[in-house]
This record gives sequence, C-alpha cells and structure tokens, in this order.
Amino acid sequence: MLFRYATYFFLVFLLGCAENSTEKLDDGGQVVVVCTTGMVADLAQRIGGDRVRVMGLMGPGVDPHYYKASRGDLAKLERADLILYNGLLLEGKMQDIFGKMARAKRIVAVADAIDKSDLLQPAELEGHYDPHIWFDVALWSKTVDSVVRALAEIDSEGAETYQHNGDAYREELAALDAWVIEQVEQIPSGQRVLITAHDAFGYFGRAYGIEVTGLQGISTVAEYGVNDVTGLVDFISERKIRAIFVESSVPERSIEAVRQGCLERGHTVSIGGTLYSDAMGGQGSGADTYVGMVKSNVETVVGALR
Ligand SMILES: [Zn+2]
Repeated sequence: MLFRYATYFFLVFLLGCAENSTEKLDDGGQVVVVCTTGMVADLAQRIGGDRVRVMGLMGPGVDPHYYKASRGDLAKLERADLILYNGLLLEGKMQDIFGKMARAKRIVAVADAIDKSDLLQPAELEGHYDPHIWFDVALWSKTVDSVVRALAEIDSEGAETYQHNGDAYREELAALDAWVIEQVEQIPSGQRVLITAHDAFGYFGRAYGIEVTGLQGISTVAEYGVNDVTGLVDFISERKIRAIFVESSVPERSIEAVRQGCLERGHTVSIGGTLYSDAMGGQGSGADTYVGMVKSNVETVVGALR
C-alpha cells in the first residue's frame, strides 16, 4: 500500500517537473499571478516585483465573503501561471472554482502557511477558523514564505529575487508590527475597545490588546436584531466608550442605530471614522497597499480613542 502511494507521488512529481520545464510564461516573460483580495495581490506584487504581472479580482470596497467570479475573472484565472487566495473560506463563493482550477493550475491559499494553533476559532463560526488573518501584522508576515516558494517554483530564475524581496518585506512588516504596538499604547487602557459592525478585527484585537466587540450576528447580509443593538448600547454607555467605527464594506446604517441608542441614554459616542476591513482603499486613498491600510486603520482607531 505504502509502496503504491510512493509510486503515485513519484509519478505526480515527474509530471510536475515536466510541466515546470515546458511552462510558457506570459509574452512579456512575466509570471501572471491572479489574486483574490487586494491584500493578497499586494503581497504578490511586493515579493514578485517586476518579474510578475499581478491581477487582483476584488477591488476597493468589495466584500470577499459574497464575491462570485465574473466571466472576466474566469478568463483571468485561465491565464494565470499562479493563483493566490486568502483561504479559510474567506472567498466562500469561490471554493468550487478553486477546486476546479486546482486540477490544472498552481493555486495557493496563503493562510495555509499559518499554523492552525495560531488561528482563531470563534464560537459563531461553528468550527471554522476566522479568515481575517491580515490584521495581525506578525501573523500575516508568516504568509510571505509561501508566496516566495510558489513563485520560485514557477520561475526558478527569479528564486533569488523572490527570496530577497520576501526578506525585505518581512522586515518592513516587523517594523510595521512594532509601530502598531507603539501606537496602541497611546490609548488609555480602559478605552482599548474597538466596536465595529463586522467581525473582521479578531486577530487585530488579540495581537494588540484591544477588546473587539461587534453587533453579534451582523454580517454584510444578515439583518441585526434589536437585542443586539440594545446590548451594545448598554455596553458603550456604561464603559463611556468614545467612538465606534464603520467599515468600508459594511453599510453605515447598522452603526448609526447604535449611535442613536447611546444618544437617547445621554452618552455621546462619535463615529470614529472608516476602517478598512476586507478590502483595501482605492488608488490615492493612502490605504491602497497593505501597509497603508494597516496604518490608516491604526491612525483612525488611535485618533478616536486616545
Ligand atoms: Zn470579513
């Protein structure tokens, strides 16, 4: 039995090699990398540099949880030398496509590089892992190596470049992580509470010592219940929380209901600004890179709660 498996893997290995050597890269000689979210696309671009041509499927403000691939996306995926996605079911509606693509393409979920013991498994996800890994900068930097490896496998001539770029990016992320820690220390400890509509900040809270509360059960699709709003209004009024936050991919009206409720209880809570959750900002927003997105969020949070 074992021998049969060994033979099988050896054959797969041989086939893999054959595919490698005959692989034809894009006309410009670049590796075509198709990525789902902007965060993953940015990762690929930083590591790939000008050896790669990165195409992102989900633009600014796009919610990956409910994103379905368009015809144009399928054409891009067909052209890809490498497909990178977040994983952990973030791209829930694209699982079938990934399954099909995996038969003919190299496809990598960057989250697979993270040890399962480092992942959050919130009760409401019923056994699934929280996919929002990018807001713990140190955790996200663990995905760098898997992208370096995947690119080097396709384009062995670029292996050294990818390694070099990956190392440099990891250093930049380590500095960013230290900066976030420093910034959060400016918030008085009783005010280190982040209230938003969408539970995208679990890893952020765990990494940087911030209590994260959302409207339970709220998602970008489901309606929130009256009790959820009342409970949150109590919490905010009692703790005298100064600000709550809206997100780029979540309608503002849900947060507005909470703000109104607090006002009726004599506590003014301000809208602390817009946080980027599941999508980066548009060009020129300053949040159109991963590093820029993290900085923008931290500045918004610290500015409102300090
Ligand atoms: Zn999300």
